[in-house]
This record gives sequence, C-alpha cells and structure tokens, in this order.
Amino acid sequence: MEKMIWEKLKIELKTILDERELNTWFSQIKYIGEDNNELYLKVPDENFLNTFKKNYLDLIYNTLKKLSLVNYNLNFIIASKTKETKNNIIKKPRLSNIKTNINEKYTFDNFVVGPGNQFAYAISVGAAKNSHDYNPIYIYGDVGLGKTHLLNAIANYIHKHDKDKLVFYKTSKDFLDEMVYYLQNKKFSLFKEKYRKIDVLIIDDIQLISTWEETKKQLFFIFNEKYEQGKQIIISSDCPPKDIKNLEERLRSRFEWGIIAQIEPPNLETRIAILMQKAKEKNIELDKNIAEYIASKIKKNVRTLEGALIRVYALASIKGVPITINFVKEAIKDYIDYDKDKISPEIIKNFISEKYNIKPYELSSKNNSKKISFPRQIAMYLLKRVLNMPVSKIGKEFGDKHHTTVIHSINKIEKMMKDDPVFEDEILSYIKRFKDE
Ligand code: ADP
Ligand code: MG
Repeated sequence: MEKMIWEKLKIELKTILDERELNTWFSQIKYIGEDNNELYLKVPDENFLNTFKKNYLDLIYNTLKKLSLVNYNLNFIIASKTKETKNNIIKKPRLSNIKTNINEKYTFDNFVVGPGNQFAYAISVGAAKNSHDYNPIYIYGDVGLGKTHLLNAIANYIHKHDKDKLVFYKTSKDFLDEMVYYLQNKKFSLFKEKYRKIDVLIIDDIQLISTWEETKKQLFFIFNEKYEQGKQIIISSDCPPKDIKNLEERLRSRFEWGIIAQIEPPNLETRIAILMQKAKEKNIELDKNIAEYIASKIKKNVRTLEGALIRVYALASIKGVPITINFVKEAIKDYIDYDKDKISPEIIKNFISEKYNIKPYELSSKNNSKKISFPRQIAMYLLKRVLNMPVSKIGKEFGDKHHTTVIHSINKIEKMMKDDPVFEDEILSYIKRFKDE
C-alpha cells in the first residue's frame, strides 16, 4: 500500500519520459517511506539531487497533480549523509506543490503596460508588494487581455521576494477539482486547514465557478476567513461581479468590497510594444513595420496577436520566404478583427470571396456555377444576418438579382445550417467576426 504513490508516479512518468532518462535518474532514487502525505526518497548525493530537482521536480509535482495527489510533498534524503544527522533531510517547503500551479513565464517584467491595463497593473504590483491597500482585488476584462498573466505575475513576485508567504493560485475549476478530491478521500478537514494557512489567495476565472452549491459555500467560507485574517484576495473574471451568472448575492457583494479594475483592449502603441516583447521572448527578429501592420489588424485579443506573430514566422520559415507586408497580409487574414460598427456589404463580400477563392466581382456576375453561386448565397445570407438589409437591396449588391433569388438563397443557407452543425458553426463564426451577438 505504502509504496503505491511512488510507483504510480513512476508509471505515469513512463508515459512522458524515455527509458534512458528513467533509468539514469529514477533508478537511483530509493523509496524510503511515506508519512502523512510526505514521501521520503533517498538520493545518492547532493549534485544528483540538485540536477534532479532542476530537471524533474516541476514535472513530478505536475504529475502528482494530474493523478489528483496534490497534497503530497517530496522529501529527499542524501544517502552519503544519512548517518550523520536527521537534519539532512532536504525538505521542500510545503508551498512547493502549490507553486507548480503558477506559470513562471508570466511576470511583471514581461507585461507591457498601456492605458488599457495600467490601473489593473498598478494594483497588482501593489498587492504583490504587500501594500494591502485594497481587499479583495477584482480584475476583469475580455479574454486574452492579460488577466491570467497579471495574476501569475503577482504570485511569482511574492514567491521570489517573500519566500515565507504562502501564495495560492487557482482557477475556479482547480478549486472545484481540489475540493472534490479532498471530499472523496474524506480529508475535508485537511482542505480547510490548507486554505487556512494561505497568505495570498488568487482565484482566476471566477465566472466559471461551478454551479454546485457546495463549491460556492466553501468559497464563501474561505473568502470570509481570509478577509477577516487580513489576507489578500485577488480574483479575476471576464465580467464585473454583477454580471456573473449563478453567483449568490452574498458572494457577489463581497467581491465589490475592495477594488474593481477593468482591463480594456490595448491601443495600437501598446499592441506594437507587446508584439516586440513577445518577439524578443521567442527570439524572433521582428521588423517594426511588420509589428505595426499586424498590430493595426488585430485589436481585441493579445493571445490572437501573439498567435498571428507565431503563424507569420512559422509560415515564413517553412516556406523559406522573406517576411514582407504582403506575405503577412496573406498569413494573418484569418485573424483580422473588423471594426464592427464599420461593416459594409463590401467588407463582407470581400471576406467571402477570399474564403472561397473567387474574385469579388464574380459574386455579382451572371455565373451560376456552384463554385460561384454557393459563396454568393452565403454572402447574401450574411448581408441579411449581419446588416439586416432588405432583400431588394441585397439583390442590388449582387448585380441586380431578383429579390426572390435572394429569399431563396437565404432560406437555403438557413436550411443547410439546420441540417449540418459543422456548416452552421462555420457560418456562425463568420457572423461573429462582423457582429456582436
Ligand atoms: P486572459 O487571462 O485575460 O484571458 P492571458 O493572461 O491568458 O489573458 O493573456 C493571453 C496572452 O497574452 C498571454 O500569453 C499573455 O502573456 C499575453 N498578454 C496579455 N496582455 C499582455 C501584456 N500587457 N503584455 C504582455 N503580454 C500580454
Ligand atoms: Mg485567463
């Protein structure tokens, strides 16, 4: 029974590491025992341990997490010293298994500050430096605007500068998983104890909090306890507290006790700076003009911006071609954000003809081959759905087609969407580009 955790761990690691690695490292580690969630392992010497820790510790804690064994700690005993004293047990601090939830990649240093995120940034830095000006801190904004980045930056900063502090970063989904784990294993008092010790509690994506009452009850309880202990609480969401669904009033109002900071989409200058920063991190040589072009086209989501950059470079290196504006234009066409209040029939028609590889004028031609008529029908449908244009006007947009032709086209696309969910998804994704629904 005892050895199980270690064996389980090794079996799981076999799926990740190759044979050689396993033999070199793991065969030299001896399982000694287990006590109260502490695993004791013997290693040959200090050098071995240092290298091992550097290379595998995070992997091990992540694997434990994957196996739902989040509350285990590893303790290493150095073989060459075991005879001398017990104190040679190198104990990884309790928070080590918590730390692995945190993404070390995200720091304040690599977060680009601009008007849209300045406030959230300043408050986050304050919290990281223990200013205790506001509690709780509630940061919200659309997806891909850097909430998770900021939250992790806080955790990383505290971890680095204030080692004694227990920082806990969880998504609301992790929170649920963890709770369930402790409940199933009948160790709920440990769960409570664990949270009682935390100095800084960070919960990401609170809007995804489970509908299960018990989760909300526990969160409420923990929130109150932390608040009364004067411990910092930081929460993120994609919307303000009042718009979170299935959250009871008492929890919602508590989120409003401290400060609420919204992150807004970055302006052009910030987007360029972010691109330059990401390029630097990825060792990509990025021309300022190219950065400016990409940043002028992608406006709403930093993750998409980053994705576009990677795509451009990956494509260019696969094809072995230089990165010109024209090349970029082609490479990122699927990422482009349209200004939704400036959508015209032209924009939609150009989009569709590009998608279906035909010339825009062909949409208005008399050519009724399937290659042309099908995209034409989709474009007609979009003019209706997105711009709510009358059918007679839509007909005029396509070389004076009769309004009954337009109605027929719209009906046809509607029916196809009903019959084919994949096609429906495709069309809905077009609509989403042009219209907030
Ligand atoms: P959210 O949690 O708000 O959905 P993330 O924090 O996951 O967004 O950000 C998405 C990606 O964009 C991450 O790679 C993050 O590093 C990057 N990012 C967002 N804002 C910034 C910024 N101001 N500076 C640098 N990177 C950013
Ligand atoms: Mg996030």
